[in-house]
Amino acid sequence: MPDRPPTPVDRSLPTAEARHLMTLVRAIARREIVPSAAEEEEAGRFPRELFTLLSASGLLGLPYDSAYGGGDQPYEVYLQVLEELAAARLTVGLGVSVHTLAVHALAAHGTREQRAAHLPAMLGGGLLGAYCLSEPSAGSDAAALRTRAVREGDHWVITGTKAWTTHGGIADFYTVMARTGGAGPAGITAFLVPGDAEGLSAAPPERKMGLKGSPTAQIHFDGVRIPDARRIGDEGQGFAIALAALDSGRLGIAACAVGVAQAALDEAVAWARRRRQFGRPIADFQGLRFLLADMATRIEAGRALYLAAARLRDAGRAFAPQAAMAKLHCTDAAMRVTTDAVQVLGGYGYSADFPVERYLREAKALQIVEGTNQIQRMVIARHLLGPQTR
Ligand SMILES: Cc1cc2nc3c(=O)[nH]c(=O)nc-3n(C[C@H](O)[C@H](O)[C@H](O)COP(=O)(O)OP(=O)(O)OC[C@H]3O[C@@H](n4cnc5c(N)ncnc54)[C@H](O)[C@@H]3O)c2cc1C
Repeated sequence: MPDRPPTPVDRSLPTAEARHLMTLVRAIARREIVPSAAEEEEAGRFPRELFTLLSASGLLGLPYDSAYGGGDQPYEVYLQVLEELAAARLTVGLGVSVHTLAVHALAAHGTREQRAAHLPAMLGGGLLGAYCLSEPSAGSDAAALRTRAVREGDHWVITGTKAWTTHGGIADFYTVMARTGGAGPAGITAFLVPGDAEGLSAAPPERKMGLKGSPTAQIHFDGVRIPDARRIGDEGQGFAIALAALDSGRLGIAACAVGVAQAALDEAVAWARRRRQFGRPIADFQGLRFLLADMATRIEAGRALYLAAARLRDAGRAFAPQAAMAKLHCTDAAMRVTTDAVQVLGGYGYSADFPVERYLREAKALQIVEGTNQIQRMVIARHLLGPQTR
């Protein structure tokens, strides 16, 4: 059964421009995303042409500087757009979030020349990005990464394997963290690698539980040679650059989680109204009414949390612990809400003919990506208590 369009969420947007933007996003979601979402996810098809449309519509550069083709939108607005895209199809919301993450290093730490050379194509010229931090042996402990970049004159030669790269194999550019110095975070440098670089290849996509339309693959760097002009930031600054991008990226994941949860709630409410048992709509039973009320409350709390963190970011204040809290809460809420949505639909919820089982499988990924929820708790606890003594 094709997904139904999401029920419009009543949003408080700060400007008329943001309200127009939301109207555009909803029209794209309704016409271009929702009708094919279920079929394409089942077929494992990534909607590359849709991303070209999103880029042309300004939706791949929303929080970035308009001087380079971005949308100049505050995170408060960008994240609500992401939420709507994720509610329509998580592969799309997550794809926009990962692209935005991949752009962050260059936008925040690139030189003026680098930004002028690359950002316009990334923000509105149709390019799609990927972010390469994780490796087969370095996931949560990302500072243990082993991919090496060795300097040869005014070039770098990159060798190693990155794991779990969203858009791996289809991206036009890869933001890559590689080791240029000794062990630990201080030995890591960031690079911008073009997708067609010689020596770069992708393994077949991972066979995932959900998000089957979003390709996730290992990327092999076999002596990939890139000019020093594609080094982002100073040597040894790469880990800090990667983590700064993740602080913002986690807000994107939180917004995506709220979107999936909202889509699941919408389905559950519609079903509860329609389905009759014991001679009445099941929406009459208090057991289900309370379940739906709890689902709605978790979603609203999640939305409020990611928006509060976004507003701190927009005000130029520190927001990393709040971003970790938003990621933790919203993704746990999405897991709970999608599980409960399956319950509301009963046996039908367990069938692939209805979208809620897909939402449940998709929500699980969000508790893992961009730092597992255990890692988010470590970030929050470090903020409260300082670093662990051992
Ligand atoms: C769909 C998908 C898309 C992804 N996209 C990208 C991408 O685009 N780019 C990218 O770089 N990576 C990406 N990742 C990788 C993701 O960031 C990692 O999977 C994640 O960081 C966890 O690493 P790991 O899988 O190696 O698990 P591990 O680090 O091996 O963790 C295994 C378990 O141990 C727990 N754990 C580990 N250390 C601690 C600790 N100190 N305290 C408590 N618990 C701990 C973890 O929480 C987890 O439960 C993606 C992953 C998925 C599933």
